[in-house]
Amino acid sequence: MRNTRGSRHSLVNTQKLTIIAQDPSVRIGGKILMSEVDVPAEELLAGPRGYRVNVIDFDTATSTLYRPAVLKRAKNGQYEDAFALKKADGTPRKRPKRYDHKLVSDPTFHAQNVYAIVMRTLAQFEFALGRRVPWGSQGHQIHVAPHAFADANAFYSREHRGIFFGYFTGPSNRPIFTCLSHDIVAHETTHAILDGIRSRYLEPSSPDQAAFHEGFADIIALLSIFSLPDLVGQLLDRSTPRGRMISKAHLTADALKQSVLLGLAEEMGVGLSKGRESALRRSVKLRAGRPYMSMPEFSEEHDRGELLVAAMMNAFLEIWMSRLAKIGFVSPGKRDRSLVVEEGARAAGHLLTMSIRALDYCPPTDITFADYLSALLTVDREVVPDDKYRYRAALLRHFNNFDIRHATGADVDGLWKQFDGRELVYARTHFDSMLRDKEEVFRFIWENRKALDIDDRGYVEVQSVRPSIRIGPDGFTLRETVAEYVQIMTLQAKELKAALKITPPPDLPPTMRIRIFGGGALIFNEYGQLKYKIANRIEDAKRQTARLKYLWESGALDGDQQDGLRLARLHRARMARAERSE
Ligand SMILES: [Zn+2]
Repeated sequence: MRNTRGSRHSLVNTQKLTIIAQDPSVRIGGKILMSEVDVPAEELLAGPRGYRVNVIDFDTATSTLYRPAVLKRAKNGQYEDAFALKKADGTPRKRPKRYDHKLVSDPTFHAQNVYAIVMRTLAQFEFALGRRVPWGSQGHQIHVAPHAFADANAFYSREHRGIFFGYFTGPSNRPIFTCLSHDIVAHETTHAILDGIRSRYLEPSSPDQAAFHEGFADIIALLSIFSLPDLVGQLLDRSTPRGRMISKAHLTADALKQSVLLGLAEEMGVGLSKGRESALRRSVKLRAGRPYMSMPEFSEEHDRGELLVAAMMNAFLEIWMSRLAKIGFVSPGKRDRSLVVEEGARAAGHLLTMSIRALDYCPPTDITFADYLSALLTVDREVVPDDKYRYRAALLRHFNNFDIRHATGADVDGLWKQFDGRELVYARTHFDSMLRDKEEVFRFIWENRKALDIDDRGYVEVQSVRPSIRIGPDGFTLRETVAEYVQIMTLQAKELKAALKITPPPDLPPTMRIRIFGGGALIFNEYGQLKYKIANRIEDAKRQTARLKYLWESGALDGDQQDGLRLARLHRARMARAERSE
């Protein structure tokens, strides 16, 4: 785009694009429910191919290269959206004839749909974290293939540097495209981004870490959908009497669970995305107050991931209601429908931002659900100290309801303890370099290894230094720098006891080489002072013993620790399992 006025400020920074709100089975009056979303504006080549996403529509099943989507430039400098249902001024446009048929049958719409959802998800991460976010795969641009293969599956692969969507024949012999499901596209994109932020979370470590990628990707996908007012409004309209008002009887946690959460679960993917649909339905139906985390049936990664989804979705309903309580009634017992919808979408949007920000406050290796809960609570307090809608209380209660407790290293309220930095020496490091230079942060760690309680045996590496700007709801900004370090020791099994007091499983061959990990996230405030150290100590014998036991029993010690197709297998198993449970 030409910078016509000679000033960079004359460039618009978002572009509106039309997507399918959830998937082709979620309909209003028999028509597919659509939504218009904002994505970052950029120069687009045919594909679309932009600065972070390269849609290449090659089908390996039929060796077909589909025609790329070419977005035409309109007079106002924006791209024309050939599928828009609104005019440029926001007023509705008549739905063209055979519009739904075109959505499902036109590969260029499929390309636009995946491009827009991938970019929207990436933009949500970048907004929440206040910095650019890398993909887990190498390179700045990720490949996205909307019709990659003929199978009921979709996956991100670090090794193949892409996100691949399958298609298959559904009920009544209709083709089903996973690239048309908002939740599937957002879920896969989340895997690719999470892998860029915390690359060690795909390694085998514990039942929690195995389940975290799935649970987190589901949370982001669902909150991303519920942050669309079109969809929330539609779900409410369907279950409540028509009119501008909505009665409070329809706005209890149970009523909203039925109408909004289960309402979507019932509709989602008739014949499509069964795995995800069931994840929402099953997690919403889980009863609170059972010892889930120690129940054997919840050690399996999909089921365990659903506990995170259950906790977050129930917290979402409570926060939504708490926001409604602040706006009062328009007439006795009645609330304004558009405000109810707006507050619901806003609550989902806020939780989405919090869920993403929490990643910075998680240890870089061996994450547990407890770590994630403490991270969520802490990051929220940093950005929103007053908590007027009681987000933190709601999160703590609902995570506890599904047996997810805060981390043992946290304070009584479940938040990470601030680091007592009285012993730290900053004099030998430079403030300015500390904000971006890995070597400088390593020097800080090395000089302060005693005060930081970092074992100097083995290998220590600073993996990243990332300045972040987080914007609070009051518009104020919080500046932080997040540095990640990892520690690695490689020992023979027989040496573990003497070196680190780790008890290896009894049948582990004594000369087997074992890699032990530790590491932490260091959060520096805007003055370069250390605020939090969120770490897993390498010499934590209890945790390391449990990890080795898990790795040995799950067969992960024999196999390749970096398994590029793990997610592909996992998703296929998930879809197959959902089919069986029908
Ligand atoms: Zn997944």
